[in-house]
Amino acid sequence: MTFDSLGIDSRILTALKNQGYTTPTPIQQQSIPVLLDGYDLLGTAQTGTGKTAAFTIPIIQHLLNDPTPKRREIRALVVTPTRELALQVAENAKRYSAGTGLRTAVIFGGVGQNPQVEQLKNGVDYLVATPGRLLDLHNQGFIDLRQLTHFVLDEADQMLDMGFIHDIRKLLKIIPQKRQSLFFSATMPKVIVELSSQILKSNYKQVRIAVEKPTAERVTQAVYYVAKNDKPTLLLELLKDMEGSVLVFGRTKHGCDKVVRILTQKGVKAAAIHGNKSQNARQNALNSFKDGSLKVLIATDIAARGIDISGLEYVINYELPNIAETYVHRIGRTGRADASGASISFCAADERAYLKDIEKLINLNIPLMEDHPFAEAANAEWAVPENRIPAKQGQGQRQPQRQPQGRSSKPTGSKPEGGNRGGGYKKRR
Ligand code: AMP
Repeated sequence: MTFDSLGIDSRILTALKNQGYTTPTPIQQQSIPVLLDGYDLLGTAQTGTGKTAAFTIPIIQHLLNDPTPKRREIRALVVTPTRELALQVAENAKRYSAGTGLRTAVIFGGVGQNPQVEQLKNGVDYLVATPGRLLDLHNQGFIDLRQLTHFVLDEADQMLDMGFIHDIRKLLKIIPQKRQSLFFSATMPKVIVELSSQILKSNYKQVRIAVEKPTAERVTQAVYYVAKNDKPTLLLELLKDMEGSVLVFGRTKHGCDKVVRILTQKGVKAAAIHGNKSQNARQNALNSFKDGSLKVLIATDIAARGIDISGLEYVINYELPNIAETYVHRIGRTGRADASGASISFCAADERAYLKDIEKLINLNIPLMEDHPFAEAANAEWAVPENRIPAKQGQGQRQPQRQPQGRSSKPTGSKPEGGNRGGGYKKRR
């Protein structure tokens, strides 16, 4: 299948060609025709599937086909949970609409509002925004949404996790009833389904792109049992053998900063992105990481959600997430499009219950790297019963079932490990 066969406007086809896109991804194949037909859409898809183009292309096409309004008015609105994602979505929209004359703008909090207000005054067709700044500028009278015809809620589950539900409800009261709505979420718990039913028309279409599959097929995974205190040293050891960019995930802002301090002390170029960092600091770190001048980027899940870093080789889960789906999002950062990637997870005694949840979700045992200098200390940590339970998570009754020695490390069905992709140490057979 080609983009031509989807009935896409020649101006957009040229823009896609300039991006080097030849074949639509599955979500694009499924979504573009129904969106061009004007249906609402409920999309379950992780990032890295081509989701952004799947919704941006048909919207641009509709805007181009609309009789040009006398004055530029906001006709498409994409709302995303994070500033970084907003920037990325707007950047993509600009690329896919290059040469069409449409004007895209992005607004988010944490920076001065004046440049954003100036852009809005000059007229915008396609607006990408985070909820807080959007409502703020609307309240100040700088944003008029009355001509809106297309509304996209991206990463809805994350939006709820971040407490934006009230802002979304307020927004729904402001935007016109008559519109095409698109609702994307990586996961579909009940509360998300309920929210979607308030946004979408009843004859909406649904596309689902499986979460686990692309990940397991393209990303080589490995896990190290390691005592908490040994994590920094293990990280430094592994980094020595890694060429290319490494994205490290931590659970807390404080923890991320600590890792940066340790790496910097040892001469490794590293920076962190998380909610306490200024928008400029976050964007600078991200830009340096993308252009290759920063080897290691350390991020919390919220800061990194949806971020697309092409050619990312490695993801390290310095701390395992307590929500299994988050692991899938994290490792989806690597192995994008046709590239392969590697994910390495550090698992302390109090994280083994999380590991079990993750393996259950992705339906495979992540190969365990046992032949490493910190394995003994990890076993000693595990031997102390108090270390095993993540007390805060209320999982006190849960008994992790595997001992390291008895753990199966059945191959994952992923690509064979090449070079030092598992981190230079040997996998237990
Ligand atoms: P997304 O899921 O929207 O974050 O997209 C993931 C990555 O795939 C981005 O780097 C896009 O530029 C890229 N991409 C999207 N659609 C295509 C396509 N049809 N062919 C090649 N790359 C694509």
